[in-house]
Amino acid sequence: MGIKKAIITGGSRGIGLAIIKTLLSENYEIWYLSRSEIQEELNGKLHYVCCDISDHNKLEESLKSIIKEAQYIDLLINNAGITKDNLIMRMKMEAWDDVININLTSAFITSKILSRTFLKQKSGSIINISSVVGVVGNAGQANYSASKAGLIGLTKTLAKEFASRGVRVNCIAPGFIETSMSDKLTDEQKSSIVDSIPLKRMGSAEDVANVASFLASSKSNYITGQVICVDGGMVI
Ligand code: NDP
Repeated sequence: MGIKKAIITGGSRGIGLAIIKTLLSENYEIWYLSRSEIQEELNGKLHYVCCDISDHNKLEESLKSIIKEAQYIDLLINNAGITKDNLIMRMKMEAWDDVININLTSAFITSKILSRTFLKQKSGSIINISSVVGVVGNAGQANYSASKAGLIGLTKTLAKEFASRGVRVNCIAPGFIETSMSDKLTDEQKSSIVDSIPLKRMGSAEDVANVASFLASSKSNYITGQVICVDGGMVI
């Protein structure tokens, strides 16, 4: 096999975009699925696939046509995610369903579709972008925490299902990362969270991308089923 090929959900901005830039600099050919396109010019082999991943049929169709075009895939990154926060007493069913669908069910679908390719190839790797709140929970985020904890369970299970075929599955649990997702918080909320982080700063999208690059590479050949927190020590 020649050039490395990757599929990533999301990627139009934030952590996904930083991962795309890092992987392009490592000569990957990349397909990213999101509702909007990257707003800057990037050099390299990058393909945009317009897809709302909450539409499961469209997601399946898009993946199948990418696989057909690419012929082989080395890496799947489940990165797309949303929040719809509220205390559970006020949380509407729709907010629960949307977050579970986009954050967790989409990863079930991508993993299921790609598993056929990876098992046939006897190679490949999956990286799921979870969150520290999937490990420790967070008041006001029952839907989001459950979706991120679900990704951790999915990661560990698929690591066991695929290991004998040389396919690795790992999880990154970012802490408090500077992107449009965390921009929803007020300055006071941000500074009180930063106070609770041992390294005393928010993480950057590049901090997460560096770990994704490591988990995608042969440098992590003996690592599978793991959750790596990229959180400045937030949940030690
Ligand atoms: P952003 O909001 O900056 O980016 C979210 C990405 O997900 C965008 O590319 C967006 O693309 C895509 N996305 C959202 N909904 C859909 C959809 N229905 N269909 C297709 N794509 C979709 O968030 P981050 O970069 O911060 O988050 C990336 C991941 O990291 C998420 O899973 C998030 O939960 C996780 N994370 C982030 C943390 C943080 O502090 N920022 C902390 C812990 C985890 P588009 O809108 O174009 O469709």
